[in-house]
Amino acid sequence: MTVAERLKEINLQIRAHEKTYGREPNSVKLLAVSKGQPIAKIEEAIANGQCLFGENYLQEALDKMSHLTNANLAWHFIGTIQRNKTRKIAEHFSWVHAVDNIHIAERLNEQRPNYLPPLNVCIEVNLDNEPQKSGVAITDILVLAKQIAALPHLTLRGLMAIPKPVDIFSEQRASYHRLTLLFERLNAEGFALDTLSAGMSHDFEAAIAEGATIVRIGTGVFGPRE
Ligand SMILES: *Cc1c(COP(=O)(O)O)cnc(C)c1O
Repeated sequence: MTVAERLKEINLQIRAHEKTYGREPNSVKLLAVSKGQPIAKIEEAIANGQCLFGENYLQEALDKMSHLTNANLAWHFIGTIQRNKTRKIAEHFSWVHAVDNIHIAERLNEQRPNYLPPLNVCIEVNLDNEPQKSGVAITDILVLAKQIAALPHLTLRGLMAIPKPVDIFSEQRASYHRLTLLFERLNAEGFALDTLSAGMSHDFEAAIAEGATIVRIGTGVFGPRE
């Protein structure tokens, strides 16, 4: 299948899932995860109307950005953020999805250039309390959210999670449901979060059923990574 065909199919599925689960039409955005994909495939996606791209590795992303200078593109950094990479991330991306500690948030805030709008940020949640995994423990979310909300060059937009991979749909939904409850709890505390970054190629239906507003899909759009 070509990228054009895959992209069309994924968009149709997203629209169908919105309808099935009573979501507003077009309330779910597709972030095409282009890590490990060649420029030619990204260009094909752009030619077919895709504007939002997600990358995990800084140098790879910067190389691609230097070739793809279309002003309508928005680049989202979705990988783990290393301390020594924050400046370039703050300078070149419009979103980061996986902030999980205040030190990284403070660096991004200080290094975000004044000529750019605030950097959009999601907090990554360690939903299943997996010790080896990145993400904030559920019990620490509220404190971190308050700290990030106080930083002027960041805008706290929402939560992101990568649940433990499971195949059973009801279990996928159960994980994302816990993320949605957290999101609602933060908004009840006075935050105005509008983003749930949830769902990948294998589980985006469950994520949409539970309220995802951004699905991050790589292989589903581009095919296997190189
Ligand atoms: C790679 C990646 C994705 C996309 O995964 P696919 O299974 O290819 O859809 C989504 N989110 C994150 C954080 C990733 O690292």
